[in-house]
Amino acid sequence: MFDPPMTRAQGRLCRMLGALLVGAVATALSAPDTDAGLPTTAFVGMRVIDGTGAAPQDDMVVVVRGAHISALGHRSDIDVPNGASVIDATGQVLMPGLVDLHCHYGGGRDGLANAFGIQLRFGVTTVRSLGVDGDDNLAVIAEAESGAFPAPRIYTAGIGFSAPGGLPPGLPGLHRPTSEAEAREMVRRHAERDVDLVKIWVDPTLDGSLAMGSLPRIAPEIRAAIVDEARKHALVVVAHIYEEADARQLVAAGVRHFVHAVRAQDMDPSFVQLARDNDLTFAPALSKAQDAWFIAEHLDEVLDDPGLAAAFGAGAIARLRASAAETREGMLRNDQLPQLRGVYERTQRFIDTMQDAGITVGVGSDSGAGRVAHGWGTHHEMRLLVEAGLTPLEALAAGTGNGARILEADAADFGTIAVGHVADLLLLDADPSIDIRNSRKIARVMQRGQWVEDIAPGG
Ligand SMILES: [Zn+2]
Repeated sequence: MFDPPMTRAQGRLCRMLGALLVGAVATALSAPDTDAGLPTTAFVGMRVIDGTGAAPQDDMVVVVRGAHISALGHRSDIDVPNGASVIDATGQVLMPGLVDLHCHYGGGRDGLANAFGIQLRFGVTTVRSLGVDGDDNLAVIAEAESGAFPAPRIYTAGIGFSAPGGLPPGLPGLHRPTSEAEAREMVRRHAERDVDLVKIWVDPTLDGSLAMGSLPRIAPEIRAAIVDEARKHALVVVAHIYEEADARQLVAAGVRHFVHAVRAQDMDPSFVQLARDNDLTFAPALSKAQDAWFIAEHLDEVLDDPGLAAAFGAGAIARLRASAAETREGMLRNDQLPQLRGVYERTQRFIDTMQDAGITVGVGSDSGAGRVAHGWGTHHEMRLLVEAGLTPLEALAAGTGNGARILEADAADFGTIAVGHVADLLLLDADPSIDIRNSRKIARVMQRGQWVEDIAPGG
């Protein structure tokens, strides 16, 4: 059901032949059997949630050799290799590392390295960074990919495209073309950078808030020029949407991947068939959509959450605690709240309808924007998908296998637990298919066959 786009490494190879790339391609193409003789770990006796949405399987064995999963099956069918280090995971649950399709990063090298480390400790092993990666961020991402410090697998849209004066307002350095020719030239220059994607914002509101009035949107013909030029450079386009008419125009121009939802109004039922006919994908950012009131309404829960303290930092939590009543009141005094709650409820209905219709739904939390903390936000988004009507297994598939397929289609070798796939794994102490909040009960995280506490200490 998916076009076969090039893998990220192949796409980059077409666009640039830098020396850095050679290592990345070699890694991406290494077959599992080249891991022979490498350290081997066997997880034994646990429940496996494989990330495809299939029912969990009990009393399993998963063998990791080097960076890859080399064997998988019921305990009675799989021999644990001699010399493997055996993890008795009886009573635990093994699932794939999480894929967050909507993140933003700032704060320079320290800020990015810190966010990446937090995400890894929360089990987020793949991220899509959507639109605020200037050359500074791209340099840090390249450094992370060269192994200088621990980080998830990163897909980046570099700097995104919007209209002059449009969303996100006031952000310097954004691509804000005023003609088709300028848009094409900007995409050409964009493609010369080490980027995977093009991000377009098409939203007249501030993510549903009308506090700034109606913001300008990129003209439809300029959007079409961006999408066409991106296709010529093998760059996938991801669009932030709000109104159905904009979504339809972008689909007609060739866009398939969306963040947020049709949420200015409930979608017309015919939009579901359009989504099916065009293999559209959606990552709704429910976390961002309710962050204007979630913390205010759950302040005690938030202040007592050690994982969130780790994500926000102890200083930020202490400041929140010191001003708890004021913080709560301040957030709830926002006169845009009724409007924002309406947008949120429409987003819930949209994504539940899409899931029921068999459209691919992913997890994209908008972590790094507003009050959505890295790492924590990815789990929170799965919880909110369940509140929107998905089953826990559907939300877990959204956060793993679906995310990987949205990024790499059938070429994805991560996001699901399967022989030959990269060993990005979460070992949990409780079952998230019973209660999605158990995705936070993380015992250990493995990235490419290595324990994250060994590569990203401090968590
Ligand atoms: Zn965003």
